[in-house]
Amino acid sequence: MPGRGGAARAASRRRTPRALRIGRHGLFADAAIEQAYLQAKLRSVQAGLRRFGLGGGLLFLLGAFIDWSALGESWRFAPLLVVRLLVFGVGAYVALVVGGAGPRRRSTLRDAVLAFELAAGLGAAAVTLAYQPDLAYRVVTVLALTLVLYAYLPVFGAANLWVLPALGVLYLAEIGITLHPTPQFLGFVAVLLALAHVAGWRIATGNARVRRQRWLMQRRLRHEVRVRRGAEQNLRHALESCPVPLLVHRAVDGQVVLLNRAARVLFGTGRQEAPIGELPVASFFRRADELDAVLASLRERGIVRHMDVQLRTVDGAPVDVMLAARCLRYEGQAAVLSSLVEITARKQHERELRRLSATDPLTGLRNRRGFFNKAEALLRREGVGPLALLLMDVDHFKNINDTHGHAVGDLVLQMLAGRVKAVLRRPDVLARVGGEEFAVLAPLADLDDACALAERIRDAVARHAMRIHGLRLEVTLSIGVSLVQPGRMAIDNALSRADAAMYRAKHAGRNRVEHRADPTPTTPHARSPSPTGAHQRAGG
Ligand code: GH3
Ligand code: MG
Ligand code: MG
Repeated sequence: MPGRGGAARAASRRRTPRALRIGRHGLFADAAIEQAYLQAKLRSVQAGLRRFGLGGGLLFLLGAFIDWSALGESWRFAPLLVVRLLVFGVGAYVALVVGGAGPRRRSTLRDAVLAFELAAGLGAAAVTLAYQPDLAYRVVTVLALTLVLYAYLPVFGAANLWVLPALGVLYLAEIGITLHPTPQFLGFVAVLLALAHVAGWRIATGNARVRRQRWLMQRRLRHEVRVRRGAEQNLRHALESCPVPLLVHRAVDGQVVLLNRAARVLFGTGRQEAPIGELPVASFFRRADELDAVLASLRERGIVRHMDVQLRTVDGAPVDVMLAARCLRYEGQAAVLSSLVEITARKQHERELRRLSATDPLTGLRNRRGFFNKAEALLRREGVGPLALLLMDVDHFKNINDTHGHAVGDLVLQMLAGRVKAVLRRPDVLARVGGEEFAVLAPLADLDDACALAERIRDAVARHAMRIHGLRLEVTLSIGVSLVQPGRMAIDNALSRADAAMYRAKHAGRNRVEHRADPTPTTPHARSPSPTGAHQRAGG
């Protein structure tokens, strides 16, 4: 489809800048670009010409041996030898001119090529003159020689293209003068020669065009590589000097390929930078679930906008950071750039606030909120069994406050916390859930065991009077007990059942343990009051 091809060529012409267009002779339209091309090509052209000049000249000279055996007797031998020596001389001259280390100017090269073209043409003419081959042989040789010369001709300008047609005309004249062919045959040879030159011209200019196009492409590629290398180097410099800690890891294997200075300081590797390059990104994460969340977000969206995660230094110390990450290409590979803002201080502050908001400042125990948090976490835990819930209230505490002052009341609460704690085991949870109300959550499946624990607590408080500022204070507790079945009962529900049992203990005379069985049928518990206290099964 010629129409389409023409359109494509026109489009490519429009895309190519004017200076880079290649003209009719296969040369750049712009002289400066042509000069730049030749400068770039000089080295290889020079070497080729040197070989061609010396090797070709020598080969032509060696032909003298054939001359000797064929024309040794004839007068033609001597002039032909002179021509052969002349051609060798021109070849050697070409090699001399283009040889040497320094670059040659375009005109020098063009002249050397011209000289060699002429010498080769004249040499060939001399050979044909001396041997006087028949017409057909001569025509075929000339046609072949013409095409070969065009094919190997380096085009430096229009001049060395025009030398060959000029030589062709000379040949035609020579044939006409020496062989006296008929005008028809001479015309026929002229047409053949003209066709060979047209074809040769196209071959030579086509070659020149292709070589220049290839050079342009190489130049473009080299430029692109330079630009890319520069850009990558700039990126590396920018990343390295960025005050925000940055980390780049390869997508394919998670290997860390860049940690900028700020990141090396953050991870405490300011002094030992080398080993960090061999670490996988996963080794910086303290929590696998956070790493999974980051990777999942990158997989799904290619980006992590911001996520608070806990990382670790190379020594394993925790570092809280706000992480933002995005996929990119780094050094030609798919990679992930993560920027990190350290928030360790903020996170510590938050943790401290959370702890304070869940802690009772007077006793250091969990407060009501802390108790609920802990209880709910316990109940959510997988495979957890029934828990015993004990709710205890100080009997007649108001009297202590009223009689001895609020400060003494506070000391009583603190001492009481210590006594209860001493009875409990490690997994048991103790909290101050109200003014003078405490709660215990203990992993006990049996109501009897729960009541026994409550009894031990009640006894530990009541057995000895508290001595505060020389005072002797008898402090007792009323305790309500209930069981919490994970998955079946919410903690506040269990608490209100324990509360009801505790109030029954109050009504039944205080300093007692009462329990409230699980709503599911259980064995009735009834115990007789003991001198030190009692626990009674609540009705209902
Ligand atoms: P009972 O429970 O046996 O029925 O009598 P009670 O005197 O303990 O009754 P109540 O629950 O009315 O009294 C609780 C008192 O605890 C009232 C309040 O002033 C006091 N209280 C609450 N919080 C604190 C505290 O932090 N420090 C001190 N010293 N007293 C507190
Ligand atoms: Mg109370
Ligand atoms: Mg009370």
